[in-house]
Amino acid sequence: MILVFKHVFYKNYVGLSLWPFIILKEDSLKDDEVLINHERIHLRQQRELLILPFYILYISEWLLRTLLYLDSYRAYQNISFEREAYAHEKDMQYLEKRKTFGFLRYLTR
Ligand SMILES: [Zn+2]
Repeated sequence: MILVFKHVFYKNYVGLSLWPFIILKEDSLKDDEVLINHERIHLRQQRELLILPFYILYISEWLLRTLLYLDSYRAYQNISFEREAYAHEKDMQYLEKRKTFGFLRYLTR
């Protein structure tokens, strides 16, 4: 389910997923298939990790990578969940063929 909230977004971020919702900054973004696919990949990751552990792992990985790179944006881009979502967001069939815990492949790259 897609919701629109204009005022929850920081800087250039325009979408986020909070299972079972995708939250967008603007109504027009509903037509952005790549963005919606990216967020749907996150919803799948959240579901397979039973939601709460996803957020704990996501934030832990972000904090560790921030310490590693001393760059919070680069840390965000390299979180395994984001790497998987960015790598496959243009593939509209990805979720049909994705293996469970597909993000693990992106943990060590
Ligand atoms: Zn993402």
